[in-house]
Amino acid sequence: MHTNTMYRFDNFAPHYTSYPKSLTVSELRDAFIVALQSLHGKTLNCASKQEKFEALAWLTKSIISKNLIETQKQRTKDDPKQVYYLSIEFLLGRLLENNLVNLGIREVCVKALSELGIELDSLLDQEEDAGLGNGGLGRLAACYLDSMAAMGLAGHGCGLRYRYGLFEQKIKNGYQYEYPDNWLKNQTYVWEYRRPAEKIAVRFGGTVRTQTNGKIRFIHENYENVMAVPYDVPIVGYKNQLVNTLRLWSAEVDVDQYTCGAHGVECNSVIYYKHAIESLTDILYPDDSHYEGKILRLKQQYFLVSASLQSIIRNFRMQHDVLQELPDKIAIHINDTHPSLAVAELMRILIDDCCLGWDEAWSLTVRTLSYTNHTVLPEALEKWPVNMLEQLLPRIYMIIHEINERYCRELWNSYPGDWDRIHSMAIIADDQVHMAHLAIAGSHTVNGVAEIHTEILKKTVMHNFYTYTPDKFTNVTNGITQRRWLLTSNPKLAALITDAIGSNWIEYPCDLAKLAPLSKDTAFLEDLASVKLHNKLKLAKYIKEKHGIIVDVHSIFDSHIKRIHAYKRQCLNVMHIMHLYHCLRENPQLDIPPRTFIFGGKAAPGYYKAKKTIKLINTLADKINNDSAIHNKLKVLFLENYNVSHAELIIPASDVSEQISTASREASGTGNMKFMMNGALTIGTLDGANIEIRNAVGADNIFVFGLSAEEVLAYYRRGGYNPWDIYNSDLRIKTIVDQLVNGFFPVDSDEFRSHYDALLRYGDEYFLLKDFASYVAAHQQLADAYCNQNRWQAMSLLNIAHSGWFSGDRTFSEYAAEIWTMDQPIPLWCQCLPEDYARVNPGRDVNHDQVILS
Ligand SMILES: *Cc1c(COP(=O)(O)O)cnc(C)c1O
Repeated sequence: MHTNTMYRFDNFAPHYTSYPKSLTVSELRDAFIVALQSLHGKTLNCASKQEKFEALAWLTKSIISKNLIETQKQRTKDDPKQVYYLSIEFLLGRLLENNLVNLGIREVCVKALSELGIELDSLLDQEEDAGLGNGGLGRLAACYLDSMAAMGLAGHGCGLRYRYGLFEQKIKNGYQYEYPDNWLKNQTYVWEYRRPAEKIAVRFGGTVRTQTNGKIRFIHENYENVMAVPYDVPIVGYKNQLVNTLRLWSAEVDVDQYTCGAHGVECNSVIYYKHAIESLTDILYPDDSHYEGKILRLKQQYFLVSASLQSIIRNFRMQHDVLQELPDKIAIHINDTHPSLAVAELMRILIDDCCLGWDEAWSLTVRTLSYTNHTVLPEALEKWPVNMLEQLLPRIYMIIHEINERYCRELWNSYPGDWDRIHSMAIIADDQVHMAHLAIAGSHTVNGVAEIHTEILKKTVMHNFYTYTPDKFTNVTNGITQRRWLLTSNPKLAALITDAIGSNWIEYPCDLAKLAPLSKDTAFLEDLASVKLHNKLKLAKYIKEKHGIIVDVHSIFDSHIKRIHAYKRQCLNVMHIMHLYHCLRENPQLDIPPRTFIFGGKAAPGYYKAKKTIKLINTLADKINNDSAIHNKLKVLFLENYNVSHAELIIPASDVSEQISTASREASGTGNMKFMMNGALTIGTLDGANIEIRNAVGADNIFVFGLSAEEVLAYYRRGGYNPWDIYNSDLRIKTIVDQLVNGFFPVDSDEFRSHYDALLRYGDEYFLLKDFASYVAAHQQLADAYCNQNRWQAMSLLNIAHSGWFSGDRTFSEYAAEIWTMDQPIPLWCQCLPEDYARVNPGRDVNHDQVILS
């Protein structure tokens, strides 16, 4: 499906004027001094690192600003179709280095600063991560912004400007503590433009009455206005002088509206009121995949959707007279269910504000919206109580109610009498509004994020929708940006690759496949090994400084970094380490390659078991790291406060990537792709994009184990799994499981009781015991492979070579061509012909049938 569309377009050469045409070292150096003076009134000698960082960022922003203005001028002239990507999360991380790289001025900058005795790296460390997301979902949104800008498409993000990002994690006595992530310490963010003139009023509460004179009108009254003020963050394209924007909304009080006495507000409570309203965008909900009936969360979702859509339609109408052109000129994408109120809000705007009739409004809405599903975990499929929606958003609820009535009538026509089916597909059922159902009904296209995930959607959670409208469903496997995750975060590897095959891969990631023949070149493999060693030394230095632990850089760096969640099975990894430790205690001379196990990740504050998992990892780490009997063959680390910047440090230094979710539970994963692109070998289940990684790299270059998704789903459906059988028959397992509660760890005997119970009393929902034996065997194979360094490096290189397909550029060209049907040429992510790509990727499509469930 993909290959046909991918090559449909000619390469797209943006014709934006270039700035700065050639920035010289001395110009930049002088400009930096001036920036420092005007921003802080200081000379170089007196300025702090933070002030120097700000000066450099400000200088960089001034270059970006010119490109932004040029881009917008050109867009007004060309009037291309625009994409708006609505997402409750954007996990940007730091921007300075990426912006320098994308502007093509990183090298000049390094030289200019070094003439002033400043190391660029030391300034980069001053930047706070913009952590406006929980994990993969938000990082994906950020990767796509980068790809859209790099590929020259008019694509923008719409999100919320949370006052506090995802909490800062600190570990004390092995436990997670959460602190506010005060990323806006100075009230402002260096990259943003505040645009108060473009503020939008969002209405909450109130009542709706109808007025009929010829036509029915809906009058919304007695509502409360919250002002949404936009802050635009520029998104810089790679060396194409193009700048898109991420528009983040912040809640503010219309001060004039809240004078004493108005809205029943007493004078002394105006301040309190102001605070209550502005707290709407204070925090990002850190519950990753748990349903929480928090009204504030619903308010945030509507605030994002309403402000974004009102502003999109307002801009559209300034340029276009004919509303009917909307789907030709605008594509609005719903990233996961959080922004699905977009369906009803767009209807509201078209009907109430633009005076269209229902049928026409519905047709425009459906043709403008598309929706990506990101999870099959039942607890993460959002539902809101009817009475909550009705009170908070009365007009929106009326519209949803009407959509539901019409949708159910339509279903009745197709399935007369089939109440069960209609009930299972209704948007409103059992006094709840099903957000995923609303998103499906109101979108022209629905996609999953990896082949197997889309298959599971079609076969299980969305089966009835798929049967009803099969053409709506499609797959677009996730991707990551090679510009951040390879070019910027692993510069030594990027340079080695460019030396070998030229720099085309930066814009055409499929070019990485040209590395494949080098897997037989011993000298090249040695260079590859020394790049890895360099990165490991850098991480080891960080670990020593931050955690006071010395790790052996010749050990296998085995990383498991992602949100802590039962389905991601950090505990299976723990069990394997406990097993290795047991083997070494029994036989200290055991000849195994030394290993450093690295964990990182945050647990949602209300997620008891995940927090206990962190304590378990840290307790195990203490025990192992302080046991001299095992001769430093094992080290275990939990790196605090996992975020984008830490990922950028850990991934280039890793030999092994742990992707061991219970098959069928991980929709795609993107961490797996970042590791692959940096030459780590995957040990993983056939889940999410791991399957496509295996297909791309070939089964010989990955370590696969465990139940298949099909087997897991069959157990969920039919039962028949009893963990006690395994506990009683495999002594290795019995030993480990008992150690959770028998005093083996120096903690209260009930500390890990919940883990013990989950495995035995509650049926081991995530199949840890079931998959243990094959996981251990896969680790054994991995250890054997590592002992042949030449072979290992060749495998590593093949992983890099075949990672181009997992570029966000590929993903994006699929979205652009197949879902958003952009009216401008979509650039290639691959310069070679499909035949060539197949030739250099012999692994691709092998065992493709694995992805299809029977
Ligand atoms: C990539 C990334 C994730 C997603 O990782 P998965 O392994 O796919 O769950 C989460 N957090 C951060 C900071 C990331 O960079």
